[in-house]
Amino acid sequence: MPTRGLRHLPIDISKKSLGGNNLPIVKCLCGVEIMIVPNVKLMSQAIEAHILKHKKKAKDPKEAEIEAERIRDELITQILDKASQT
Ligand SMILES: [Zn+2]
Repeated sequence: MPTRGLRHLPIDISKKSLGGNNLPIVKCLCGVEIMIVPNVKLMSQAIEAHILKHKKKAKDPKEAEIEAERIRDELITQILDKASQT
């Protein structure tokens, strides 16, 4: 029996109006660049994945939490900033 085509592909970032000189990226405090994608889920996944890297460098859980918040605030601030420019 054929399965119904219920495949939701959330990735639709390929050729969507990403033109212009400003690359849609945010730069972390550590220098790593993260691409901004017009998809909340993917975007937050990318952010959380990167935050995890910072957390792993922390010496204890408390420091990890502080670091996570710092990085999250920084990245989201930049995203909002970019969003308001376009
Ligand atoms: Zn970073």
